[in-house]
Formats: sequence, structure tokens, C-alpha cells
Amino acid sequence: MAVGKLQRLNSPYFKRVFTMSSTLTTTRRSELKAYLVGGGIASLASAAYLIRDGGFAGSDLCIFEAGSLPGGSLDGAGSPEEGYVIRGGRMFAYEAYTCTFDLLSFIPSLTDPAVSVTDEIHEFNTKHVSHSQARLVKNGTKVDAAVLGFSSRDRLDLLEMLAVSEESLGSRRIAEVFQPSFFETNFWYIWATTFAFQPWHSALELKRYLHRFLQEFPRIQTLGGVRRTPYNQYDSIVRPLTKWLQDQGVRFEMGARVVDLDFKYGPGGRTVERIRYIRDGAPNEIRVCDHDLVFVTNGSMTAASSLGSMNSPPRQYAAAPDGSWALWETLASKHSDFGRPAVFNGNPDESK
Ligand SMILES: Cc1cc2nc3c(=O)[nH]c(=O)nc-3n(C[C@H](O)[C@H](O)[C@H](O)COP(=O)(O)OP(=O)(O)OC[C@H]3O[C@@H](n4cnc5c(N)ncnc54)[C@H](O)[C@@H]3O)c2cc1C
Repeated sequence: MAVGKLQRLNSPYFKRVFTMSSTLTTTRRSELKAYLVGGGIASLASAAYLIRDGGFAGSDLCIFEAGSLPGGSLDGAGSPEEGYVIRGGRMFAYEAYTCTFDLLSFIPSLTDPAVSVTDEIHEFNTKHVSHSQARLVKNGTKVDAAVLGFSSRDRLDLLEMLAVSEESLGSRRIAEVFQPSFFETNFWYIWATTFAFQPWHSALELKRYLHRFLQEFPRIQTLGGVRRTPYNQYDSIVRPLTKWLQDQGVRFEMGARVVDLDFKYGPGGRTVERIRYIRDGAPNEIRVCDHDLVFVTNGSMTAASSLGSMNSPPRQYAAAPDGSWALWETLASKHSDFGRPAVFNGNPDESK
């Protein structure tokens, strides 16, 4: 018998996904089900690959989403009267988003089903090339941003950061790795405003971004490598992907907030035996079989986000965590090897 095994996967943007995975040696896929907690791009993409590469039937997949729409942070909605909300304006780069473009290569576009979403995005970016004419402005005057402004020391510090191991950076902050003058360079102003970094953020995260976006250095002053979707990402990515999944028979449990997972222990380790969720204020549960898979999106950049208006500010953070943080905290409080959410959400003033 195949036995479920716990894995922890790192994803960019300070997030982790826990998966229960089976070795699938003796259990036929047709007997397996997969449950995905969270309806953001992480779960939508996982579901698509479980179908395409994992041999799952769509009808054996179930996505639990606390909200009323799939897509999570990739939202985009509104009206001329009420205004529009898109919590993140995202950019892509062909070199760094190979997985995204692979995913979208088998998803038909909504405007022309004969064309994939990847091809639709390529076509759009061939016509609309990013080329910032004035990436930095100082005292009302355009700055020559092609000059990145590094000192020899800054170059050495950058090279060292690229070369050292992640472990050696540990929990150091960017400000602990570079000289104060580094934070006055054109490079820092461009990089920080492109990728939302602050000097007190994680040096390790900066290192990961440097590796991922190194190819942008020669063109970062024009944002020449930045690719966009024709519409916001909800309309251009989430809607066609959701339609494709629904056409395959994937079940979307909307308004279902997963609050806990029950585990059991066997010779092969720990497996999920029950998913507990709340819908319409009522508790529900689903029993998970030994070989089924459970994927959990934990932590979110937009959990606990609130909206302001022209007349009122957004509300302050609630003291208690909500959304994916709440589930992660519950799981971490029971099992220390599920990590420490507080490292990521314990200091909102520095991470908001
Ligand atoms: C302002 C901003 C700019 C960004 N810019 C970029 C960019 O340029 N390029 C880029 O690649 N990325 C960018 N990102 C990051 C990107 O948007 C996120 O990494 C990505 O959307 C996260 O997807 P996800 O599925 O992992 O999580 P999320 O989108 O957070 O989705 C999680 C979903 O799970 C649901 N959920 C959570 N907990 C539960 C539960 N217990 N039960 C049921 N449902 C639950 C939530 O309601 C949500 O719908 C940006 C983000 C922001 C906020």
C-alpha cells in the first residue's frame, strides 16, 4: 500500500504550500481524490497539472474557497459608479515565468478558444512593448536611470549576496547586508519600486529576486522585460483557467472556509483524515481516504486586506489572523514542523 507522505514546498512571495502526497505505487489514480484549500492561482494551477500531468479526472478534484470568487489575490472587479479594485497590478517576464506560461499554454483564451492564453499574452506584448521613458525623476527632472550608481563596495556586496547560501543569510535584513549609500543608488530606487522592497525586508528574499530577475539588469531602467496581460489578471488568467477546470468537472466549493485538518499517524507517517470547514456559519467535514491528496495554500499577501474609499480609510488590521493565516496558525500550533507563521505575519507594520 502506498503511504501518504508530508512534503513542504517553497513558493515565491513568502509562502509555503503543504502537500500530502502519495507514492501512488499501488493505488490507481481513478481511485484517488485531491482536495485543494484556497482558490487562488496556486490551487488553480495545481488542479490543472493534476489533470494534465497527474492523470486525475477533473471530477476527482475539489477546491475549497472561502470567498465567493476564485482567483484570490488575482482579483479585478468593479463598476464605473463604485470604482474598480485590483489588489495587485502584476507583471511577468518571459524568462522568469516559464511555469506560468506553460500552464497557460494549454488553457484556451476566452476571446478566441482556438488560441491559448499564453499565445494571447505573447501577441499582446508584441504589440504593446513596455518602454519607460522616465523611470526615475528627481526634483522634477528626469534622471538617467541607465546609470545604476553602484560603488565598488556595492558591487562586491551584490556579488557576495548572489554567491552565498540561503542559510548563511538566515533572517538578516537587507540593511544589514549593504552600506547605507546602496540605498541611495538609482538601482535601489528602481529595484525597490519595481518589486516592493524596503531596507528592513528579508535579505534572503532579495537574493531570490536577484537570481530570478538578473536578466532584467540591462533593461531595468526602461522596464523593457515587463510583460502584461491584455486585461487584468482576473479576466485574462483566472477566468479562462477556471472555465477550463470547470469544463473538466472540477468541483468548486465556494464560501467554504477550511478551519482545520485532522491528522492520523501510521507506519508511513502523518496523513490527513478529515477536512473541517465552515459554510454559511455551519460546520462541515469531509473524510479523506488514505491515498487522497490534500494541498493547502497557507499565508496570503492579501488576507486581511481592507478597502478604503474616497471618504474613508481602510480599517486597521484585526488583531486575530484571518483567512489562510488562521488555518496555518491552527496547524502550526498542533505541529511544530509546519513552520512559524509569525515570522511572516507577526510584524504587519514592517511587512504591509
Ligand atoms: C500588490 C501586489 C502586487 C503583486 N505583484 C506581483 C507581480 O508583479 N508578479 C507576480 O508574479 N506576483 C505578484 N504578486 C503576488 C501574487 O499576486 C501572489 O503571489 C499570488 O496571487 C498568490 O496566489 P496564491 O494562490 O498563492 O494565494 P492567494 O491569491 O492569496 O489565494 C488564496 C486563496 O485562498 C483562499 N483561502 C485562504 N485560506 C482559506 C481557507 N482556510 N479556506 C478556504 N479558502 C481559503 C483565499 O480566500 C484566497 O482566495 C503581487 C501581489 C500583490 C498583493
